[in-house]
Amino acid sequence: MAFDSLTEKLQNVFKNLRSKGRLTEEDVKAALKEVKMALLEADVNFKVVKNFVKTVQERAVGQDVLNSLTPGQMVVKLVNEELVTLMGSDTTEIALKPSSEISVILMCGLQGAGKTTTTAKIAGKLKKKGRRPLLAACDIYRPAAIEQLQKNGEKQGVEVFTMGTNHKPVDIAKAAIEHASKNNLNVVILDTAGRLHIDEDMMAELQEIKENVEIDDTILVVDAMTGQDAVNVATTFNEKIGVDGVILTKLDGDTRGGAALSIRAVTGKPILYVGMGEKLSDLEQFYPDRMASRILG
Ligand code: GDP
Repeated sequence: MAFDSLTEKLQNVFKNLRSKGRLTEEDVKAALKEVKMALLEADVNFKVVKNFVKTVQERAVGQDVLNSLTPGQMVVKLVNEELVTLMGSDTTEIALKPSSEISVILMCGLQGAGKTTTTAKIAGKLKKKGRRPLLAACDIYRPAAIEQLQKNGEKQGVEVFTMGTNHKPVDIAKAAIEHASKNNLNVVILDTAGRLHIDEDMMAELQEIKENVEIDDTILVVDAMTGQDAVNVATTFNEKIGVDGVILTKLDGDTRGGAALSIRAVTGKPILYVGMGEKLSDLEQFYPDRMASRILG
């Protein structure tokens, strides 16, 4: 399970703190040093960790925590609060137009991140909410990706729009919106091509779609298992094409958790959902407070 190692380390630090009764500033400093190590080992971004520890330290001293009856408890509470803040505090929804209009969602990410699977997962969620989604296959490089989208769409009971591999993604996107309009569908989700690494062609293709199609949400799918690489990918995509929200996949694996804790702080973009497995139902809304509780154990 994700975070296991981080959780265990933090719990040890806090157990020590709680057992002490009265705390000195030095005790808090020493404990936060261990928190820092634990976060770094969990692959949380270095700057994020530094700021995090500094904030908790300042709050611990400033709020007279040390004179309270349960100082250890108070420090744990501060760490919890700051973890929540780090991950964005509130839950962010995908921003859609009213049902009477067509909303367009652009899904992007590197190959293997889980983009195609997540696209179908999102369609299922929107359908449950009463929307009428259409999936559009804009990956013209891998016929297998189109097939996979079709299979997943079928499982979700959601139509998949495809024009094969001989048209430009931007033209497929436009045609898909046209198709949605004619068939009374109101959310078009564009599944775009991923590459193994970020490259200029991929970005140019996404830019072309964004310049020619009115996109309501650009959602980046990143693999939590890749840790700080996921954060770097998010930074680059955001700089190049602008991202509205991130979906973090494979949080069911034994990821160390660094991506979940860094993405918001580094990119300023919220995590919308987390992928918790390969099944199309394995997508959870992201709640920073619940995630913090999960991390603290
Ligand atoms: P794409 O290349 O980005 O479109 O990636 P795919 O959607 O094909 O997913 C790549 C692999 O990751 C597939 O085997 C998926 O089943 C798997 N996958 C996607 N999301 C998750 C997730 O949240 N958890 C787990 N364990 N596997 C996932």
